[in-house]
Amino acid sequence: MKIQEADAKSLLAAQGLPVPPWAVARTAADARTVAERFLADGASHVVIKAQVLVGGRGKAGGVKLAGSAAEAEEIAGRILGMDIKGITVRKVLVGPAAVIVKEFYLGAILDRASRRIVLMASAEGGVEIEEVAKVTPEAIHRVAAHPLLGLLDWQARELAFAVGLAGPHLRDFVKISRGIVATMRANDADLVEVNPLAIIRESGPEGYVERLVCLDAKVTLDDSALPRHPDLEKLRDLDEEDPADAEARHYDISFIHLDGSIGCMVNGAGLAMTTMDLVKRAGGAPANFLDIGGGAKADRVSAAMRLILADPKVRAILVNIFGGITRGDEVARGLIDARARQERDVPMVVRIVGTNAEEAARLLHEAAFETAATLDEAAAKAVAAAQQATGDAA
Ligand code: GDP
Ligand code: MN
Repeated sequence: MKIQEADAKSLLAAQGLPVPPWAVARTAADARTVAERFLADGASHVVIKAQVLVGGRGKAGGVKLAGSAAEAEEIAGRILGMDIKGITVRKVLVGPAAVIVKEFYLGAILDRASRRIVLMASAEGGVEIEEVAKVTPEAIHRVAAHPLLGLLDWQARELAFAVGLAGPHLRDFVKISRGIVATMRANDADLVEVNPLAIIRESGPEGYVERLVCLDAKVTLDDSALPRHPDLEKLRDLDEEDPADAEARHYDISFIHLDGSIGCMVNGAGLAMTTMDLVKRAGGAPANFLDIGGGAKADRVSAAMRLILADPKVRAILVNIFGGITRGDEVARGLIDARARQERDVPMVVRIVGTNAEEAARLLHEAAFETAATLDEAAAKAVAAAQQATGDAA
């Protein structure tokens, strides 16, 4: 699950990381009020940032500075409602603008290959790290935290030296690195990214001082670990959630949208992948990955059907059920019910084996469903039906 920058900053701050203050505004008038407060507190400018779950907001015009409350209102008014990579901006973050001396990249990922949290740093901060990885991969430095001992100070120092940090910043960098790893662990995150981590200049009682702060924050949480963090579930941004994803989550269906024309409804992740492979071997392309899970009842089957049919590219549906805990007759009833209610008539091929398969076959036969005995046969029939439907449409 992706969360907004403002929420990601709260998680970082909770681990003691230096994050400049901010507030979130949903209207230009609110942005003005907040800006007035930061300007009264001594900021010369405020920064206004689109809160959308995509990167590269700066380049897209979603990050701007304002020198007065009136200007903040005007800029917020322009950013709110703006379209960034297909997403409409509904809220902005407002905070005192930092005077940036230098930008770095610092991020942590859960590296499944090494089964460790890997911390990455680069002196090429502020630009998208994917770009750095492509053009100058040697500019990204990495260390892996030990599963039991965690990230050791010397490892963080090594990273700091590699990106050219020294003196007082070195100590802060070590603290921030440890805080990022702590943020990963405390929230079961699979990514924590601070880009830019910036050296900023502030005026203190004895002249200018420089310090390292987290100017941007991106955190993605491990969906499978969310049940352990009921408080984090609240950070889900419903403004930006795809309605299909929300419905799939509601019914406990694993659903991933793909590009092909054969809708697949399968129970079990492994069987779903096999089914997709066999669709390909039969000359077709799957429109989705869909696992209705174990013991799928009729209402879940109906929901899965709605999800599949919501994609206009779907020309045929392949249902492949291996009944174990899942009862074949239950799925058959769900299919009959779903077809009676479905708005679009799409050819469907059903293969149900295992628990209560005979009863399922009887029900499907009565309802005049196209069935198949083997998965190869089912895939071939579905692909043929999709090709036929595409030909008819053309
Ligand atoms: P992103 O483009 O979505 O990654 O958004 P960022 O928060 O990283 O902002 C993009 C860029 O805007 C940063 O790399 C900075 O150069 C600049 N920026 C962000 N916040 C400030 C700020 O407070 N002061 C100044 N001067 N620049 C900022
Ligand atoms: Mn950024």
